[in-house]
Amino acid sequence: MKAVNKFVKKYAKHVLKMEAAAMDAPYVFNIQKFSTHDGPGIRTTIFFKGCPLHCDWCHNPESQRFEPEKMLDKDQHEQIMGRQYSIDELVRIMQADQIFYDQSGGGVTFSGGEVLAQNRVYVSELARRLQEIGISVAIDTCGAVPWSQFEAVLPYSDIFLYDLKFIDSQLHERYTGAPNILVLENLKRLSAAGAAIYLRLILLEGLNTTDEMLQRLQDWLQQEGIQLQEIDLLPYHDFGRDKYAQLGRVCTQHFKRPSDDQIAMIQQRLTATHANVQVGG
Ligand code: SF4
Repeated sequence: MKAVNKFVKKYAKHVLKMEAAAMDAPYVFNIQKFSTHDGPGIRTTIFFKGCPLHCDWCHNPESQRFEPEKMLDKDQHEQIMGRQYSIDELVRIMQADQIFYDQSGGGVTFSGGEVLAQNRVYVSELARRLQEIGISVAIDTCGAVPWSQFEAVLPYSDIFLYDLKFIDSQLHERYTGAPNILVLENLKRLSAAGAAIYLRLILLEGLNTTDEMLQRLQDWLQQEGIQLQEIDLLPYHDFGRDKYAQLGRVCTQHFKRPSDDQIAMIQQRLTATHANVQVGG
């Protein structure tokens, strides 16, 4: 509990800093159009910079720090990751592809980093403006933020892509830097609020794919009566490895992707309790 308090305190300081800056726009490090892995249909994904977690497998390490930073591209050219946009500017960019969202049942996904670790006044206003013009908003979150951040976007968001990395809090802390208490607590509250939740499970061979961990996960979901629209299984990949060197950091990843047979078994197992279990996002 001490660790959680320390974590919440550290995070709260960041929120206060952001709010003190009134409508300060968060930093965005990428806008990906025609995305098909960040929720239903064709989507535009906005990647906000800054995350309260530091997952060892993170394939977007440029998303972790809140401030802009230098990164080399594949031709060794330096670029600055992270720039600010006004809400009007982002709404205009999103609106340009509205026809594709409408035809495919898609929309806009706020991702990161962690979008709910950003200035909530800005984020909720952006979501509200998109909803106002008929664009559906999905929030991709690691859940490790105060509940008030969820409350701010709930009225304007249609879907939550909710990452649960480990049901075991010690493992969560060891590999992400923070325990999972906030993550589980927010998931319960989000489900109780009737939100459409797509639970996203990264699969790390031998860590969260063991019989024991899967059973604990299933038991917890059942005991808490968590209502899910879908479960997405996301097998680990190391596509982001090179980015660490491009940022001048050391990559310490040593994870393994489960075999296809294992992934199929996990899918089958979870299908016994949840109707819609997909591999991939
Ligand atoms: S929560 Fe996502 S963005 Fe944040 S460190 Fe973990 S993998 Fe990276």
